[in-house]
Amino acid sequence: MPMPAGTSRVDEILARSTCEATGLPPHPALGVAIVTCMDARIDPYAVFGLRPGDAHIIRNAGGLVSPYTLRSLVLSQRALGTREILVAQHTDCGVHGLDDEALAAEITAEVGFPPTWRGGGFADLEQSVRASMRRLRASPELPHRDAIRGAIIDLVDGGVREVADEPPKEFPR
Ligand code: ZN
Repeated sequence: MPMPAGTSRVDEILARSTCEATGLPPHPALGVAIVTCMDARIDPYAVFGLRPGDAHIIRNAGGLVSPYTLRSLVLSQRALGTREILVAQHTDCGVHGLDDEALAAEITAEVGFPPTWRGGGFADLEQSVRASMRRLRASPELPHRDAIRGAIIDLVDGGVREVADEPPKEFPR
């Protein structure tokens, strides 16, 4: 359904958009790629003290490692020289507790076929970060898997904390 004329926020954004020539090379200066959520409240440059040119920021709903995340990370490492990965998920995330089956059922009822992807809902934030780290370590198409770290950005109480490397033994996946 087309939007009424004059109501598009994208029109506003395009009208005020600007980009200076950077003079920077495409290779991230810090050799780091960060996977994080698309949440509009997260400013990864401010959270991690980054400047343009420092790191790749790969965002999606939840900050999860999907095949599309892997695609970007493989290109980041193989073509643009990054060696370290940080997976940074966050508190108060919309994907936390999302019911994948309900979402798929809702879409199927509406359009007549199920989505080819899953919503990615998770029950435990730390476990989700660890699962993403494990998935990266188990992806041999990534040349550099010895420096994969995880963190949680706390949008509720503030702060950022690293998620310990070792998955608890009671939660094998
Ligand atoms: Zn989120």
